[in-house]
Amino acid sequence: MFDYFVFPPPVTSLPVKDLQGHFPVRRIWCVGRNYADHSREMGSNPKTTPPFFFLKPADAITTESELSFPKATQDLHYEVELVVAIKESGENLTPEESQKLIFGYAVGLDMTRRDMQAIAKQNRQPWALSKGFDESCPISGIRQAAEVQDIKNSIISLSVNNKQHQKGYIKNMIWSVEEIISVLSQSIKLLPGDLIMTGTPAGVGSVQPGDRLEAQCTGIGYLAISYRK
Ligand code: MN
Repeated sequence: MFDYFVFPPPVTSLPVKDLQGHFPVRRIWCVGRNYADHSREMGSNPKTTPPFFFLKPADAITTESELSFPKATQDLHYEVELVVAIKESGENLTPEESQKLIFGYAVGLDMTRRDMQAIAKQNRQPWALSKGFDESCPISGIRQAAEVQDIKNSIISLSVNNKQHQKGYIKNMIWSVEEIISVLSQSIKLLPGDLIMTGTPAGVGSVQPGDRLEAQCTGIGYLAISYRK
């Protein structure tokens, strides 16, 4: 046995609707572009671009409703996304085999320092600081998969100060949840506790201090956050 020199990090976890326990978060895999309309607004051709992934650290998650405005950006963007929670390990899965890995779903925000990301893109640098900063991942509680019906017809939406800016159907994702899990599992071994953020529909935009954001995925979850002035 040995002692640690610093305290080991606490486990980030999310509450689960109607259950007592929490879901422990291991890693957050994020899909870069997964709705044709958002892909086009970011300057890509959705048909020729395979899915690509980046990571946020687990402790970028916040379940607080009041957040400090992040430093080092003049252009903080929201991206509302369906989040998939993984309960079993799996590699080299077909889309059909992927279903059994799903513990549940949540709605989350892939907050992005868009100005920093634009510079990173220009210089062919990674997105770690534009995507993985502190409190960059507000997420709702998780809804168990068994309780979610007809996810393809769920509507995902985001409002800023009561005005709707993003709205999309889960069925309009370029890559379905099962296809994303399958593709990811060809490159890494998915593990219990992994989350997957599945991409955002069109309508991304910037947030100012004092703004209130409401994110919703029908039949799955609701999330509201405000940025302090
Ligand atoms: Mn995103």
